[in-house]
Amino acid sequence: MVGESFILGVDLDGVCGDYTAAFRSVVAAERGIHPDQLAEQRSWDFGEWGIDADEFERLHRVAVLEHRMFREMPPMPGVAESLWRLSDAGIWIRIITHRLAVNWGHAVAVSDTVEWLDAVGIPYRDICFLGAKPQVEADLYVDDAAHNVLALRARGNEVVVFDAPYNHGVEGPRVTSWAEMEAFTLAAAARAGHPVQTQLKGLVDDDPTRRLGPRRSP
Ligand SMILES: [Mg+2]
Repeated sequence: MVGESFILGVDLDGVCGDYTAAFRSVVAAERGIHPDQLAEQRSWDFGEWGIDADEFERLHRVAVLEHRMFREMPPMPGVAESLWRLSDAGIWIRIITHRLAVNWGHAVAVSDTVEWLDAVGIPYRDICFLGAKPQVEADLYVDDAAHNVLALRARGNEVVVFDAPYNHGVEGPRVTSWAEMEAFTLAAAARAGHPVQTQLKGLVDDDPTRRLGPRRSP
């Protein structure tokens, strides 16, 4: 409804954080090899890295519980800056993550995730830890997983695909950077009748991610 905030539903893995890079480091460390020895491109199921479903479950568990992957994941370029600008423009940032899809390690997954969001400087009004059901009443979603994109669209939601090698089979709209996602979101909010107020450069600190003060680098 016009007058209420425009809600952007933001996926974490593969959208805010570079899951592939983080998982590559873990798999390489577990195998005693250099990360470069694992293929740059990967399909959704990591078949290129010689990982089957059982091995993925084992490695993912090791990654989360021992390597603390959710605390150490590299952020996607520009994600915090774009989300701060969107938040300043009046967009409601709703983080949506499926990190509880497994039945173990929930305490570590949740605490490492919120610690990471603070460390990286990502602003959000609320956060949803989900199992299967993808829909959480957002006006616009951004996700990298083909099955999530299709499930949300099947329910009539507007979903942007965050580009990755494993989702090229899914139709757009598609963005390849957070700069593109920021512009798409502002345009979508304006189309939906939400007034958006963008910052005038130079009037305030141009890097709003510094507002939360010094923090450790992720
Ligand atoms: Mg994802």
